[in-house]
Amino acid sequence: MSRLGVVLPALTLVLSGGLACAAASEAPDAAARPTTAERRIDTLGPIDTVVAISIDGLNPNAITKLRKRGTPALHRLIRTGASTLNARTELELTDTLPNHTGMVTGRRIEAATGGHGVTWNDDRRRPSTVQAAAGHEVESVFDVVHDAGGSTAYFASKTKFSLWERSWDEAIDTDVIIENNRRLTRRFVADLAGTTRSFRLLHLSAPDAAGHDHGFMSPRYLETVTATDRLVGKVLRAISSSPTLSGHTAVILTSDHGGRGASHRAPNRPANYTVPFMVWGPDVAVADLYDINPTYTDPGRTQSTYDDATIRNGDVANLALDLLELPAVTDSEHNVAQDLVTLTTDPNPAAG
Ligand SMILES: [Zn+2]
Repeated sequence: MSRLGVVLPALTLVLSGGLACAAASEAPDAAARPTTAERRIDTLGPIDTVVAISIDGLNPNAITKLRKRGTPALHRLIRTGASTLNARTELELTDTLPNHTGMVTGRRIEAATGGHGVTWNDDRRRPSTVQAAAGHEVESVFDVVHDAGGSTAYFASKTKFSLWERSWDEAIDTDVIIENNRRLTRRFVADLAGTTRSFRLLHLSAPDAAGHDHGFMSPRYLETVTATDRLVGKVLRAISSSPTLSGHTAVILTSDHGGRGASHRAPNRPANYTVPFMVWGPDVAVADLYDINPTYTDPGRTQSTYDDATIRNGDVANLALDLLELPAVTDSEHNVAQDLVTLTTDPNPAAG
């Protein structure tokens, strides 16, 4: 039994107690949240651990081109889960740190319109935190899970991710940065086996590095995608073979950006803004995500605006929280209603 599973009923009491008080007094924004809080009480699902995997620079055409033989783990996620190869990055930039920060905050990038404000993609120490970049408070998936009593961690393969530890120090229980993807994955698998946690993110950089060195979608890049798929396979096997994790763990896999040729820089190129989005685990539907989410629009080859409901890599935070039956990140934007359907037990908007 997981720690969060034990803690959630306590959280439920706190939330429902808080709402009862709010109804009698004048807490202004409490009215916006009762459905979420009530949902905590009734439907405690089987998922108590979420593993988010981001493959840096994964052009979904590589998955199609390599087929099952070259990407067996990714095809396992597609075959036995809910997925699309036509999700979107953030609109403003197709770079690593801005898009990953979108994944964990559920926000757009541009600070002036409520985004997280992380527009750079290097190791700079100023601004030193996401909050300093945004000029306002920015919560993350780590905060919500931590506040509910769950343990959190991220495992990244680029040093610039130290920004997160500086920004959400209290809420992140463990941060591991190892550039070697194989060593990092070994650490991740050891953590999966040895530590009870509610949320972990694993970032694998190798396809991006191969893309910059040899060209995105080049033969060397594709070989590296296959090698990275093997690491994903290790994670999936670690979950499937563990009696405590199997049947309780959901995986969300996406990418920060794609890429073709020399770069992934231009945010208006389909090869850069098109990313995969996969969900796998107990009760997860076996389906195309757009098929089971008629309120979300498959954008074809176009980039969509933030006014359009499109499946984005920034949906990770609030989907992870939804799967853990926790409320959305405060003031977030992507999937803030937690209405992205992934489970067979979810109410399907098409049926309603
Ligand atoms: Zn890159």
